[in-house]
Amino acid sequence: AKGHGKAGYVRYVPGMEEPILAHIQLGGELRRGLDEGEFRVVYQPVIALADGKIIGVEALVRWDHPVRGPVSPAEFIPVAERTGLIVELGRFVLRETCRQMAAWLAEFGPDALQKPGVNVSARQLHDPDFVGDVLAALADSGLPTDRLVLELTESAVLRGSQVSRTLHELDRLGVALALDDFGTGESSLSLLRSFPASIVKLDKSFVDGIEIEDGEAGGRDARQAVARAVIQLANALGLDTVAEGIENEAQAEQLRLLGYTLGQGYHLARPMPAEEFTRLLAAQRRA
Ligand code: C2E
Ligand code: CA
Ligand code: CA
Ligand code: CA
Repeated sequence: AKGHGKAGYVRYVPGMEEPILAHIQLGGELRRGLDEGEFRVVYQPVIALADGKIIGVEALVRWDHPVRGPVSPAEFIPVAERTGLIVELGRFVLRETCRQMAAWLAEFGPDALQKPGVNVSARQLHDPDFVGDVLAALADSGLPTDRLVLELTESAVLRGSQVSRTLHELDRLGVALALDDFGTGESSLSLLRSFPASIVKLDKSFVDGIEIEDGEAGGRDARQAVARAVIQLANALGLDTVAEGIENEAQAEQLRLLGYTLGQGYHLARPMPAEEFTRLLAAQRRA
């Protein structure tokens, strides 16, 4: 059927048919998956590096495809962005996280957890209803406005004055903003002057290998230099920091030495379903 050029067929591009077909199929599948309720939210603890206590949480979307099995967000988020379905998917994650967070606060009290982080794509920031969607998710869940963090990457934020207005409006309303994957973009440092962030998340690429002694350019010393520069800048600007992707104790120790107090990563805790997170909060309350 490929290459017929008839309506409804995919145009043949030499060597490229598989990715294009896979992409188109995934796009249609996303629509169906949303309608069928195949998406769910998992929660990864943000941990105090000093004592291992749960301080916060990041919401991460999961897709349990009935045939393919679990599909990685790295695969379907870009497709959802290109097709625009990220607006609806993001709304689902936001509403679900606000509802869950309100339930945890009701059960465990206001000091059990700080603000949950929800990832937001560039496409969502451009949606004219975005601020309204955020406020509706908060109002419907009963979660206070100052109990939510939106995590944005630099590339999502560097998109002109409309996005900037949206971000300043959210900031005025009390919603906190985090710069995600910090340090990977072209202008991370200068961005902090114009962007009303209160949290920076040090990207995993600066944590990978931070513990290994190698003395080479681009190796540990360079990563440590970036990690040190980020924490110094954050402290100077009064921002909170979270180090991402901590996979072993040596990395955690190195980050502690550099002055990091909060971390996320498989070594500390993996993303988990809400019920499992609830059990951890209950155990922490008893401790
Ligand atoms: P991110 O926002 O940087 O999220 C952190 C990713 O790192 C998550 O991958 C998490 O599971 C993974 N991770 C955490 N600790 C470790 C570790 O120690 N080692 C390694 N190798 N990985 C670790 P995940 O859940 O697969 O999500 C990937 C990306 O997809 C996220 O990166 C985010 O950009 C995007 N994403 C996930 N959920 C959403 C969502 O609800 N909305 C939007 N717009 N994007 C999302
Ligand atoms: Ca994130
Ligand atoms: Ca990140
Ligand atoms: Ca990332």
